[in-house]
Amino acid sequence: MTYQVLARKWRPRTFSDMAGQEHVLQTLIHALNNQRLHHAYLFTGTRGVGKTTIARIFAKCLNCEQGVSATPCGKCTACTQIAEGRFIDLIEVDAASKTKVEDTRELLENVQYAPSVGRYKVYLIDEVHMLSSHSFNALLKTLEEPPPHVIFLLATTDPHKLPITILSRCLQFSLKNLSPQMIAEYLKSVLVAEQIPFEEAALWSIAKAAQGSMRDALTLLDQSISFCAGNVTDAEVSSLLGTPDQALVMGIVQALNADNAPGLLDIANTISSRAFDYFMLLDNLLALLHRIAIAQLVPGGIDNSQGDREQVLALARELSAEQVQLYYQIALNGRQDMSLAFDARIAFEMLLMRLLVFSPQAPQEQESAILCADPEQKKKPDSGLTATEQAVITPASISAPEPESEPELEPAPETEAAQSAQGKILPGIAEAATRLPETSADTPDTQEKTQPLPRREAPTPHASLTAEDTEEFWITLVDALEVGGITGNLLANCVLLAMDENSITLALDETQSALFSDEHGRRIGDVLREHFRRPLEVHIEIQAIHMESPAHYRQRKQEEALQRAQQAFEHDEHVQALVSAFSARILPNSVKIIEEAKK
Ligand SMILES: [Zn+2]
Repeated sequence: MTYQVLARKWRPRTFSDMAGQEHVLQTLIHALNNQRLHHAYLFTGTRGVGKTTIARIFAKCLNCEQGVSATPCGKCTACTQIAEGRFIDLIEVDAASKTKVEDTRELLENVQYAPSVGRYKVYLIDEVHMLSSHSFNALLKTLEEPPPHVIFLLATTDPHKLPITILSRCLQFSLKNLSPQMIAEYLKSVLVAEQIPFEEAALWSIAKAAQGSMRDALTLLDQSISFCAGNVTDAEVSSLLGTPDQALVMGIVQALNADNAPGLLDIANTISSRAFDYFMLLDNLLALLHRIAIAQLVPGGIDNSQGDREQVLALARELSAEQVQLYYQIALNGRQDMSLAFDARIAFEMLLMRLLVFSPQAPQEQESAILCADPEQKKKPDSGLTATEQAVITPASISAPEPESEPELEPAPETEAAQSAQGKILPGIAEAATRLPETSADTPDTQEKTQPLPRREAPTPHASLTAEDTEEFWITLVDALEVGGITGNLLANCVLLAMDENSITLALDETQSALFSDEHGRRIGDVLREHFRRPLEVHIEIQAIHMESPAHYRQRKQEEALQRAQQAFEHDEHVQALVSAFSARILPNSVKIIEEAKK
């Protein structure tokens, strides 16, 4: 028994055998069943998607001895002869082969004669765009006055090369590329029927390599069967195709997840030694990340079609959704970079490093990527407003998930300073307050200070209070009061002008006074009376202020932290490596503090 290549053996014989192209088949079936036939059909699409297969089945439908229908019997003389390519009234012309182009005119000259045995004379012209201009003229003449017994089935990969006069006389059907899934399923049915053992992942490798062409897929499957000596395995198919096996792509994501740089390098070496197609590799990586993202949303939505379901689900659990999205974005951008690079391998390896460096996980494990703003502050238990500020860096060129909250300095609820403000100072507040400066007019412009406020011992009853002490006292106090909303905002924009046993005088920054009302004044008074537990008179004057208000202080702290983050980002060795490798530049203001470590 002679071996018949799969592509021929498994060529669909009926419309229902076809994989895909439902949109075309439905229209044809409807036309056949209702006997509404056109005299010229044009099938377009890339190679191997089923253009001539559909045309041949269509010819059977027209000429089956059982009558015109969408379900030819497959047994009559016409059906069997068409299947075997020797039906006299199906005239197949391959316009791509030059010798036959000359014959075309001759063939078309015979168009007037009635079919010899069939119902219709069917002209199937493949790669019709290759016809000579003489042939086109002959064809056009026929299409203008088609004899009733003639039907033209034209096929082309390149409809744009057809004269508009021809196009306008055809019913056009554009066939789609087959999806890898469709191809893989069809290959599976073939192997099951042929009783050939296989690995599912191997079929996906073939399906992807076939790039939408079922004919190519079947040809590749044929090669794989002989290459693999009967058992179609993924590793052997990958080696045959020069495509990366899925295990390798999985290994990349697993190495990233484990922050395993040496492992990643090993994979890069393996890839390099096997001369894989880097674009295909990257496409497979993107496809895997897509599967992981789906698994995070709908774990049940992942089938085992590629034999990696459990691994995908495990990665979906271990990686955060943000990580997966970031990887995907970097890989997608990398695809573009790779097409520009003179060496795809280098571009791919750079991409792997970028994935590792910018994994959202990396900063926690690499000291260099953590920015501890002003480590000295850690040692200052009474610093009051900030403990440790940690900044995790995200380059603006990569659309990393941005945190929703703006950088914000969390007030430490009960700092020592706040406690002392309540416990130590207050008993002697009357004496201390007598030494408070009456006005701030002669205070140097404290807002221009670049040094953080000195966090000294809280003022003691008999110490003389400087303007700085007053500022510090007030900032600490406002922070400890923890008043929110507009009232809190107004309070933070006040400075303390004077204070004695019975009264407190505040100045509200006039630039921030638009929201101020008597009601807010009352609330501020209540807050202070409650805090000091005495019936204080609270006066609030709206004026230009010359001291640092708590709001100014917070803003300054934030700016300083951001500046430190920016400097640390610029000095980070990974960042510097990227900048020099890619001639990158850091966008101004793109560094953001996205996380505040809690004390
Ligand atoms: Zn038949």
